[in-house]
Amino acid sequence: METYKKIILPEKEMPASWYNIQADMPNSCLPPLHPGTKKPIGPEDLSAIFPMELIKQEVSKERWIEIPEEVLDIYKIWRPSPVYRAHHLEKLLDTPAKIYYKYEGVSPAGSHKPNTAVPQAYYNMKEGIKRLTTETGAGQWGSALSFACQLFGIELEVYMVKVSYEQKPYRKLMMNTWGAKVFSSPTNKTQAGRKILAGDPDSPGSLGIAISEAVERAATIEGTNYSLGSVLNHVLMHQTIIGEEAIKQMQMTGDFPDIVIGCFGGGSNFGGISFPFLRLNFTEGKNIRCIAAEPASCPKLTKGDFRYDFGDTVGLTPLIPMYTLGHTFVPAPIHAGGLRYHGAGAIVSQLLKDKLIEAQAFHQLECFDAGVKFARTEGIIPAPESTHAIACAVKEALKAKEEGTPKTILFNLSGHGFFDMSSYEAYFSGNLVEHHLTEEELHADLKKLDTPLAV
Ligand SMILES: *Cc1c(COP(=O)(O)O)cnc(C)c1O
Repeated sequence: METYKKIILPEKEMPASWYNIQADMPNSCLPPLHPGTKKPIGPEDLSAIFPMELIKQEVSKERWIEIPEEVLDIYKIWRPSPVYRAHHLEKLLDTPAKIYYKYEGVSPAGSHKPNTAVPQAYYNMKEGIKRLTTETGAGQWGSALSFACQLFGIELEVYMVKVSYEQKPYRKLMMNTWGAKVFSSPTNKTQAGRKILAGDPDSPGSLGIAISEAVERAATIEGTNYSLGSVLNHVLMHQTIIGEEAIKQMQMTGDFPDIVIGCFGGGSNFGGISFPFLRLNFTEGKNIRCIAAEPASCPKLTKGDFRYDFGDTVGLTPLIPMYTLGHTFVPAPIHAGGLRYHGAGAIVSQLLKDKLIEAQAFHQLECFDAGVKFARTEGIIPAPESTHAIACAVKEALKAKEEGTPKTILFNLSGHGFFDMSSYEAYFSGNLVEHHLTEEELHADLKKLDTPLAV
């Protein structure tokens, strides 16, 4: 068998459907609950801010959902994305393990996020929506949706957390280049924003506040919907194009992964790479380990509780059955901004509860150390979020060496780090602080929760 460096799937072999894992899960997710009545919500509760097609996908049990022609056409700008064999990293680690990675940084926005931004903008356009609103923290989701909205002639308002707005001018300018209006949140445009500013005119903002502002705008302006970049079932499903392509690419190599790894914020890139492999576990009796790599400073999967909680800080969203640290939990300001989220998607949470996937937590310094090793061997400079998946792959490769087992590892490299070089500067100058959560910090917000238990 030949050895490959770069495994390219021909464009005509790009998968034409997304995989809906809800068709194959042994235990279905519990239903989302209305934030006020605490009763299961129906489609009509969501129709004020989401298009009907996405609401249908959210609860669908169909195994395959066809990708619309117009969406495939745009995917082809960067898809199929390459899989690489990390020969040089393997050599550095002196491991018998084979390490492969799927690279999603080739998209226009530089991460996996356009995989769902494009279909979300498309379905909204089809249902006559003229404007979308969203929030963004570090700016990755905001830039992906700006790109997608521009292609379908939809106006976009992005509520960007004030600290990021000030620290990441280039992400903001990317969004402007793709035609979006970007506001430093909290703003004076919404009741939620005005309320925060009245209490603290210098509020640095938060993702929770920005979500509240974007949802309020969508709910109150005619012809306007809201769009979310992770956590929800339909978002994770759109990302399965990653794993479906990867299965075909791995088949081309003659190797097949024993271990599949993704970093974890709300679950979209992890679900995207792993759900198609879990499909093989469910339907073909394979036994592939799927590992979610989360930050030790925001360890909802490894240390959180499984129960109902809100998706936002303020408590406006439906209650979702999830692993959570409590919706008021404020993660330490680690550099992987995209992983600073208190909860996890419902599907991933159910899979973890049923022990069908695994989770591991990694400290920031260990991640940057792995990220720099990767950049110095494989060349690509990873996003700080993606370094968590690399740290996990390195750990598993070294374990394989210790045990003398020639494992095959596949991880998702969710994005490049070109707009995050200030994080690397902090690492190189020794200013990157390790945040060790105390038991007290860990339980403080969970104790405050009075949301229903998920049983
Ligand atoms: C947003 C983001 C993440 C985290 O979000 P998930 O929904 O968990 O995938 C990870 N990596 C990159 C590059 C991101 O932009």
